[in-house]
Amino acid sequence: MKEGIHPNYGNAVVRCACGASFETGSTKKELRVEICSQCHPFFTGKQKFVDTGGRVDRFKKKYGLE
Ligand SMILES: [Zn+2]
Repeated sequence: MKEGIHPNYGNAVVRCACGASFETGSTKKELRVEICSQCHPFFTGKQKFVDTGGRVDRFKKKYGLE
């Protein structure tokens, strides 16, 4: 990427709740996402729950699984 064309646009580190991180272009330096291509069912082809701050616990409680 050439500098100077988009002064506020650069590489950002995206950190996912699953622990994966990758770089992308953004006006922000760091992005936090709860799901990414590493863990999204659409990309992985299988359901894979990642506990993002108690989300799974709430899910279990809601449906009486625990
Ligand atoms: Zn992820």
